Amino acid sequence: MCGVWSRHRDCESDMCAYSRILLAVDLTEDCEGVADRATALAAQSEAELHIIHVIEPLSLAYGGDIPMDLSSVQDQIHEQAKSRLAEFSSKIGIPEQRRHLVFGRPESEIHRIANEEAVDVIVVGSHGRHGIALLLGSTANGVLHGANCDVLAVRVGDDARHD
Ligand code: AMP
Repeated sequence: MCGVWSRHRDCESDMCAYSRILLAVDLTEDCEGVADRATALAAQSEAELHIIHVIEPLSLAYGGDIPMDLSSVQDQIHEQAKSRLAEFSSKIGIPEQRRHLVFGRPESEIHRIANEEAVDVIVVGSHGRHGIALLLGSTANGVLHGANCDVLAVRVGDDARHD
């Protein structure tokens, strides 16, 4: 099950084709299902498929709370993300020049690359959270708000498996 929100699209039906798609992955097991939807959409639209993974700087997550130099840990995270993104992208056939590994806040970086690459839909996973988690928000929500293109939220996690 999935949700599609349309924004600023000049087309008359939901069936209009996309030409550039951006798949956002957190590199957890959930991204397989999200990638399946993105690759199917790309095949159906004969679209160019891009992929993005954003590494959140440890300094953003922990601020000045940890009194130590985190740069070597950050380097290790970067190396690990780089090889996992390469492996995952190769598996689903996304060439090197369409892989984006960037640092920052996921929502802002996904918007930035979507604008730079002029994509017309961003595909993200959504946990369909309830209760307090819904109030806290999610990456999918953050991507939807402020996107200049369509956003396809693919249900992942327990909610998707129970549908
Ligand atoms: P979350 O709201 O954190 O559970 O993430 C939901 C979805 O947002 C994931 O399935 C990805 O599509 C996307 N996402 C989350 N974190 C990242 C990240 N670091 N880089 C790229 N996409 C992400």
